[in-house]
Amino acid sequence: MRIGAMLGDISRSLFKRPVTERYPFERRPTPGRLRGLVTFDPARCTGCKICVRDCPARAVELLVVDKATKRFVMRFHTDRCTYCAQCVVSCNFDALGMSHEQWELAALSREPFALLLGRPEDVEALLNPPSPVPSPVATPTVSPA
Ligand code: SF4
Ligand code: SF4
Repeated sequence: MRIGAMLGDISRSLFKRPVTERYPFERRPTPGRLRGLVTFDPARCTGCKICVRDCPARAVELLVVDKATKRFVMRFHTDRCTYCAQCVVSCNFDALGMSHEQWELAALSREPFALLLGRPEDVEALLNPPSPVPSPVATPTVSPA
């Protein structure tokens, strides 16, 4: 680069505001087409598992709470997901989407990367299954001497 052109750039830069964004203190609105966290609408899910079959990263699992009443919970592995949107395209029932607002997914440990998506009561039922009813203990009989 010629010295004259370089001096011109330097002098122009002296009077310009920096273009660096002050993230995370200031956040710009994200574009509507940004592919962020996968969203799941359990009311639309039929349990067909096409999303599980088509996901190239094995990032989704469908957990069955009650098949008869179509109660399903999606286990979503954000650390495996490549955000390709194949699961969204494959779902014929519009049960999956991608949030353009939830995209800040970094974490310091692996635990936050496995999400359970679904109705709160169904997630609770999976996390804390009802304990089995204990079978009655037979009372020993004492035979007379
Ligand atoms: S493809 Fe859609 S309807 Fe089928 S299991 Fe996945 S989310 Fe549910
Ligand atoms: S966006 Fe792609 S990688 Fe992520 S869960 Fe859906 S199909 Fe799998």
